[in-house]
Amino acid sequence: MLEFPQMPQKAAKFQRERDVFLEHIRRLGLRRTEQRDLIMETFLRTEAHMTIEDLHDRVRRRDPSIGHTTVYRTLKLLTEAGLAREVRFGDNKTYYEHHFEHEHHDHMICTSCGLVIEFFSPEIEELQDQTAAKFGFVPTHHSLRLWGLCENCSISAKDTPTVPSGAQPRLRVVKTATHGT
Ligand SMILES: [Zn+2]
Ligand SMILES: [Zn+2]
Ligand SMILES: [Zn+2]
Repeated sequence: MLEFPQMPQKAAKFQRERDVFLEHIRRLGLRRTEQRDLIMETFLRTEAHMTIEDLHDRVRRRDPSIGHTTVYRTLKLLTEAGLAREVRFGDNKTYYEHHFEHEHHDHMICTSCGLVIEFFSPEIEELQDQTAAKFGFVPTHHSLRLWGLCENCSISAKDTPTVPSGAQPRLRVVKTATHGT
C-alpha cells in the first residue's frame, strides 16, 4: 500500500474516498487488484488536473507493467463512483480532477503558459441560476471556463497584444491546480 504522509484530515478524507471506490468495485462484482489500488491511490493523492497519460506516467514509476487500458478503466470506475470528474480546457484533451466532497468550482485557463486557476464566485453562481430561471431552464450542472492570459503572461505580453480569433485557443495545459475562493 502507498504511504499517505499528510495531515490527519486529508488522510481521513482519503480513507472515505477509498471506501467509496472499494464499495463501487464490490457492487460491480469486480476483483480488487494491486494495480487498480495503485492507480486509485495515485489519483487520489495527486491534487491536479490530470489526463490519462499524466496518471499513467505517475503509476508507471511505481509499477512499469501497468498498461494504458488499466489506467483508463480505473479512471472510468473512479468517475462512475463520483470520485473523479472530467474537465476539458479547450486543448482537445480530457482531464480528470477530484470530485468527491470537493466544493464546486470553475476554471480560468491561460492560453499562453497553460496555467489553470480554480475559482468560485457566489455572485456568478447566483446570476447563472437567476438567468436560467428566466428561461424556465432547470440546470443540473455547469462548467464555466474563462480563457485568457494569467498575471505573469499578461505582463510579459504587454508589448505584443494578441488578436482574439474565433478559433479554439491553442494551448498546453500545465498541471497546476490553484485553489482560490
Ligand atoms: Zn460554477
Ligand atoms: Zn500564463
Ligand atoms: Zn478544477
